[in-house]
Amino acid sequence: MYPQHEGLYTALCLPESLRVGLITKESISLSASDWAQGGIAAAVSPQDSPKLHVEDTLQAGAGLCDRAAVEFLAEHASSCINSLVNLGVAFDRKGSDLALTLEAAHSRHRVLHAADTTGREVTTTLATQVLKRSNIQVIQQALALNLWLSPETGRCKGISLFYRNRITWVQASSVVLATGGGGQVFAQTTNPYVSTGDGVAIAWRAGAILRDLEFVQFHPTSLTKAGADHFLISEAVRGEGAHLIDDAGRRFAFDYHEAGELAPRDIVSRAIFTHLQQTAADPATANVWLDMRPIPADKIRHRFPNIVKVCQHWGIDVFSEPIPVAPAAHYWMGGIVTDLNNSTNIPGLYAVGETASTGVHGANRLASNSLLECIVFGAQMRNIEDAVLKISDEPTTLTSNVAFTATQIQWQQEQVFLKDLRENIPRIMWQSAGISREQLHLENALATVETWQKDFLALQISQFILGLHPTEAANFDQPNVDKQLQLWAEIRNLLDAAYLILKSAIFRTESRGGHYRSDFPQLLPSWQVHTLVEHHNWYKSEVLDS
Ligand SMILES: Cc1cc2nc3c(=O)[nH]c(=O)nc-3n(C[C@H](O)[C@H](O)[C@H](O)COP(=O)(O)OP(=O)(O)OC[C@H]3O[C@@H](n4cnc5c(N)ncnc54)[C@H](O)[C@@H]3O)c2cc1C
Repeated sequence: MYPQHEGLYTALCLPESLRVGLITKESISLSASDWAQGGIAAAVSPQDSPKLHVEDTLQAGAGLCDRAAVEFLAEHASSCINSLVNLGVAFDRKGSDLALTLEAAHSRHRVLHAADTTGREVTTTLATQVLKRSNIQVIQQALALNLWLSPETGRCKGISLFYRNRITWVQASSVVLATGGGGQVFAQTTNPYVSTGDGVAIAWRAGAILRDLEFVQFHPTSLTKAGADHFLISEAVRGEGAHLIDDAGRRFAFDYHEAGELAPRDIVSRAIFTHLQQTAADPATANVWLDMRPIPADKIRHRFPNIVKVCQHWGIDVFSEPIPVAPAAHYWMGGIVTDLNNSTNIPGLYAVGETASTGVHGANRLASNSLLECIVFGAQMRNIEDAVLKISDEPTTLTSNVAFTATQIQWQQEQVFLKDLRENIPRIMWQSAGISREQLHLENALATVETWQKDFLALQISQFILGLHPTEAANFDQPNVDKQLQLWAEIRNLLDAAYLILKSAIFRTESRGGHYRSDFPQLLPSWQVHTLVEHHNWYKSEVLDS
């Protein structure tokens, strides 16, 4: 049972003999996977090899990738792509071959795509297949709140779930968390609003070991226009030849790295950040420009129809003018520690996709490796059967029903408090733990977040929900309760994610990959270690042969 999306592929890979519940807090189509544009990396061309893909991934990961996990990813890429093609995913073709593009920090043309809506092509195809499978039940608008652990064995035996105005407990032999990233913890993000770090927070509260949470990839080019979402302008646009220019029309990225706009993402993001700090009157709201005019117009139309459409919607004609862009939080490298079979340290609990830390991304993800990771590791769930079948927990039945009561005034006051938190958490995180970090700002933000956590726990709604015993179901009949309880649960997770990122960023006193400390700007060999988190303990652990 699991929040999806690469849940979708994972569910398809599970043996059909298992009964599977695929839970998603919104609709099956709303996810970061659906929004993925650029593509999916795989060394399938004769000029390429898994070995080269491994080298590029290790290089981007800045010393923190686990080599065995990276090799596993690169070596299984080709067979997993075949499996997607067999399921019906229509990647772009060049003649009869798969078309491949170049993206930043890849040494070969290696990125498969379906125009600039690759994620949508993959997710719609997988969703169609999932809906055909009689052993998979899709449950939409259902929010996983917490894991349910056996007090005797510590094994994960299910989750608590908010569904149709009711909190209930769902028993399962195994739980797979596939809840995606946590970009919403930052005010500027390319992630959809469902990406609130739920899996990491849920797993952490249950005692799962987490890793490298300070590493956040900031995408250099998100559309920056008043009123518009931070729509991502894919890396592939720069791969095809677009230029990054400043207000004076100068290609400034070469001032910061010899690869210019094709340097790794963290370098390009920091180049933009630093350039704006030095040149803009108000760097927080300023932007640079992405000029697509060096790309032939026909190619733009063919490769980037969605970018053309979205820009047009915001009044930008990419054929005649550059696009205003600035960096935004994009991908969370850290997550729940998993092995090659997606197992966590909690028996019965698995994690796949962005919420997991498999060891493939290290301190900085190589572009287009995340969809690949979802597929390659999702496929590993076919090995789950033996483990699941050995478990013979007696089904537990719900023992009682309780109802939440609150006066209308209390309910409304608490909702106002929650809405304020929803705005203020991302704001403080962007200011203190964004592209450039520094001890004092991190510590001040941490103190504020800890105060908010205490205030949050003191709310009447929190006291009620957190006081429920497993097997005790709860009903709510307050107005608009589905949205309000989702807000409550997401804020709880955002607070935990913010706390975990801040503590991890304070812990690592160096700069590397997606973690830049202006007070410790150097990469230090002594810090070529993972940051591990278990409950409230932070410690270092060796990198496995990077
Ligand atoms: C704009 C954008 C473009 C990208 N482009 C690329 C690209 O070109 N190539 C690439 O490799 N990667 C790309 N990425 C990254 C990649 O898309 C993600 O890392 C990947 O899709 C994550 O997949 P996932 O299954 O882990 O999470 P998601 O696809 O985000 O799915 C998570 C699902 O879990 C559900 N969920 C979350 N919490 C709960 C809960 N508590 N209860 C119930 N359900 C819950 C959500 O509703 C959602 O359906 C991009 C990301 C973004 C945001």
